[in-house]
Amino acid sequence: MSQRLPDFIEPYRLAETQRILTGALPVKRMKRLAPMLAGDTGEVYINLVFGVDETGQAYATGEVHTCVVMQCQRCMETMQVSINTKVSLAFVKMENQAQNLPSHYEPFIVDEEASLSDLVEDEIILALPAVPLHEPDQCSVKDQYRSSTPVSADVEPAGATQRQNPFAILETLRKKK
Ligand SMILES: [Zn+2]
Repeated sequence: MSQRLPDFIEPYRLAETQRILTGALPVKRMKRLAPMLAGDTGEVYINLVFGVDETGQAYATGEVHTCVVMQCQRCMETMQVSINTKVSLAFVKMENQAQNLPSHYEPFIVDEEASLSDLVEDEIILALPAVPLHEPDQCSVKDQYRSSTPVSADVEPAGATQRQNPFAILETLRKKK
């Protein structure tokens, strides 16, 4: 069983005491992420290491992974999208402090207490595919799509196994023109 994580944390205290937070949060609790999905079931697994670096900057680094439900933009059915993303946050009290941070940190502005889901929610949102699509062999409209658009034959086989890239499809269409 995963460790039960607190709803709210005190990032500066956790950093000073070099705490590690490992566990799961329900997707439901992420109020900005949940409406972007086709369902709010599932959990977000978090592994965050808090600390203070040599410049005295309080930070949290680690990984977040989850599997969310989105709607395939080709067949409009639901699909599972797995998200694995890294988190590297620096805690600052004022917005102007955020400008001087080393580039490997994302600023997180917090006075004292923060919602734990807020810490990782933005990273997950950024990692969501802009145009979620099934793998070609799992999409129910694949055959129809292929037979009606011969351009797909021009897509390199290597491209088909990668995460679908809508820009690659556009590029193919442009060449065909
Ligand atoms: Zn599909």
